[in-house]
Amino acid sequence: MNAFDPDYYYRFLRFPGGLTKTVTFSYDDGVCSDLRLAALFNQHGLKGTFNLNSKKIGAPGHLDAEMIQQEILGKGHEVAIHGAMHRAMGKLSSSDAIREVLLCRLSLEEAFGQIIRGMAYADSGITQMIPGNSFEQIRSFLSSLGIAYARTLGTPQNTFELPEDFLCWMPTGHHDEPDLLKRIDRFLEIDTRKLYIGDRTPKLLYIWGHSFEFDRNNNWPHIEQICRQISGDPDVWYATNMEICEYVNDYNRLVVSADGRRIFNPTFRTIWLSTGEDAVTVHPGETILL
Ligand SMILES: [Zn+2]
Repeated sequence: MNAFDPDYYYRFLRFPGGLTKTVTFSYDDGVCSDLRLAALFNQHGLKGTFNLNSKKIGAPGHLDAEMIQQEILGKGHEVAIHGAMHRAMGKLSSSDAIREVLLCRLSLEEAFGQIIRGMAYADSGITQMIPGNSFEQIRSFLSSLGIAYARTLGTPQNTFELPEDFLCWMPTGHHDEPDLLKRIDRFLEIDTRKLYIGDRTPKLLYIWGHSFEFDRNNNWPHIEQICRQISGDPDVWYATNMEICEYVNDYNRLVVSADGRRIFNPTFRTIWLSTGEDAVTVHPGETILL
């Protein structure tokens, strides 16, 4: 009999490398100042997701497809759907909303030659609904359109947990929220190994905004400070929104025996998990015995 008894433990996801935390950024509207922000991320080894409106690519004040390809995608960042014309899902009829998402997805995939399934709700998103609309209905057609995650807004998220539902993914906070720096400190101070065993879930810090706000408010030093503060932490996986979403989805595909000891990885990715102190790996196609 193996000395390990799964009935005494929780089994929780660990990020690649066995890491307990992840940090991601989400910036909207595809404006020219995204280049400066992407360069800042590059300088600090951070990854971001840039949400684009397909009909505004190349418009005055906005990046063109070539710049996005070279300076955003070419540097390991992600581009995601923000609607063809930046309209609010909750305020459109289903057919208008479906067209808004699908047109954007088709254009971005055509422009950048890759599969694009991430999204950030534009405008008031799903926070306001016209009569007859509901999140359940929007969620349903986004799934049908192949959208893997969609960032929403509203209540700042203080617990640093991964989202329960990737189609209403609530960030930790906007970069200008007054207590954000304190929350970042709190996040960085978390030592998962010292937490109560049931709280040793993976932790996420997710910051969003618009890069034009740094020009408008003349506060580039603020985001520079955030990037410095967050970067270079050996416990943190720096990833795009989609890298996190896909990794979590693959973790959730692990097949586990009824006694909790045997774990099969049917995915194409090495998955890390922890049942206590140390993380273990399950390679693609492998079955491990805990
Ligand atoms: Zn926007």
